[in-house]
Amino acid sequence: MKINSHYTDLSTHYLFHDIDLRVKEYLAHHPDEHLLRMGVGDVTRPLPRVIVEAMSSAAEELAHEDTFRGYGPENGYEWLQQCIIDHDFKPRGIEFQPNEIFIGEGAGSDLGNLSELFASDNTVAIPDPTYPAYVDANMMAGRKIVLLPCLKENNFVPERPEEKVDIIYLCFPNNPTGAVLTHEQLRLWVDYARNNHSIIIFDAAYEAYISSPDTPHSIYEIEGAKEVAVEVHSFSKSAGFTSVRCGYTVVPYDTGLQAMWMRRQCTKYNGTAYVSQRAAQATYTPEGRAAVITNVAYYLQTARMIREGLQEAGLQVFGGINAPYIWCATPNGMGSWDFFDLLLNRCKTTCTPGVGFGPSGEGYVRFSAFSRRDDVLRALERIHTDLSL
Ligand SMILES: *Cc1c(COP(=O)(O)O)cnc(C)c1O
Repeated sequence: MKINSHYTDLSTHYLFHDIDLRVKEYLAHHPDEHLLRMGVGDVTRPLPRVIVEAMSSAAEELAHEDTFRGYGPENGYEWLQQCIIDHDFKPRGIEFQPNEIFIGEGAGSDLGNLSELFASDNTVAIPDPTYPAYVDANMMAGRKIVLLPCLKENNFVPERPEEKVDIIYLCFPNNPTGAVLTHEQLRLWVDYARNNHSIIIFDAAYEAYISSPDTPHSIYEIEGAKEVAVEVHSFSKSAGFTSVRCGYTVVPYDTGLQAMWMRRQCTKYNGTAYVSQRAAQATYTPEGRAAVITNVAYYLQTARMIREGLQEAGLQVFGGINAPYIWCATPNGMGSWDFFDLLLNRCKTTCTPGVGFGPSGEGYVRFSAFSRRDDVLRALERIHTDLSL
């Protein structure tokens, strides 16, 4: 047996594991300290009642002979596909057939698995800093990766590479920078993909957080995108589904990939839990939509407090308007991990070191609006009084 040696190319440390180690060490020396956690990457608000009720009644159906269900369709129930088309795309003038919408267990797995459709000698472009899964999944497959630096100088918007790339990952609103693209900026990428026969994998996990008017909610708002883009959605950050598990991926017929992806899913995936699909459907009811809006508004309000609090403390911040993340430049050119340690020791507050998201994240840290409100308020006070920049 030979192992897949590409796994040995992966960085052995996982960012959040490294953070845990430093926090544990700190707590070993300061056992009574209450740490304020501003690095939280997972949602913290409970599920809306209407969604829990949809799951309970779906579970109850499975207990009765006449309503019991076994395997569902591999790519999801048509009632959910149609619901997605009617609510997420039709109002923006975008049309899809139900078979172009693939219901899955969340964006995380599809974002990596989609790369199976492409040969291993393709070159992959990934904005830097980035959600780590795109890099790792493509490294596991042995693909060449080109990082596209996203810096203050380019407003954290990646520029098109000079060399030809085949697969492009884009995530807007962005994790970790909170940046968004305008229609015009997104159009340049769609045109690039059309001219170079590339494919764009568009991660729309934070679509629900868009609050600026000229920001595209879907890449399919751009003409021609159906030929060159696959779009991945998640209910995790909008409706709090990180434990429920449900998302969907749009693979348009025009990409020429729909049949391949269908084949892949039928072979390797036997469908998303019925209970989770009913939960997802409930997010589209009037009460469900209202609950999602309330949830997102709460996190965005926390984001605003973080933005303003950090600014008042003299820090330079980005993002946090169309995303639950605030990207903060470290003071005086300090390294990401040094600033992490300073914040931990002086303010008893944790954040996420930017360099953990890629080399261009050096000199930044990420604050998360998924943090508890009382932690945020106390942390901002301490940053204001104890950081003394
Ligand atoms: C949280 C997150 C996801 C998704 O998650 P699932 O829970 O797997 O749906 C996808 N992309 C980004 C950038 C994320 O931050």
